[in-house]
Amino acid sequence: MRREFSAGGVTIRRLRGEWVFAAIRPGGKKPGVWALPKGLIGQGEKPDATALRETEEETGIQARLVTKLGDIRYVYTWEGERVFKVVSFYLLRYSKGRLGEIEPEMRIEVDEARWLPLEEAPKLLAYGGERQMAEKALAFVRDNGL
Ligand code: ATP
Repeated sequence: MRREFSAGGVTIRRLRGEWVFAAIRPGGKKPGVWALPKGLIGQGEKPDATALRETEEETGIQARLVTKLGDIRYVYTWEGERVFKVVSFYLLRYSKGRLGEIEPEMRIEVDEARWLPLEEAPKLLAYGGERQMAEKALAFVRDNGL
């Protein structure tokens, strides 16, 4: 089976007294499908660098690495071929930039970017694996405060 390796981020910040995270609506999906920014790991690129790069490309914001959250795995079919995919997710802390200020070519991949409450991430995110990553991010900020 073809294999694919990506990395992505749960970028958090405190806004009006609550933790929020940067979510995207991937292009071409139904409205209401919220996901985490992620993308293919480049040749020779470290996965944490991919997570930061893809977060910036897909959301317009810059962030700093906090910790690794975990890996998720799934299989999908692309033009009749099954692809086994592993995505490594990192907890990132917002540093600067405005959410949604992205390059025009990224607007095909991303319909919208929004800060959503981290507490609600486990029910808002469309994919089970990403919901688990959000649970881990929540547990981390509860335990460590940040
Ligand atoms: P990348 O963002 O890594 O560059 P991509 O946009 O090319 O990747 P995916 O986001 O992996 O591709 O989407 C491929 C298929 O897998 C789509 O049908 C998508 O709905 C589905 N998919 C995406 N994320 C998950 C997930 N966490 N669990 C299950 N299926 C998923």
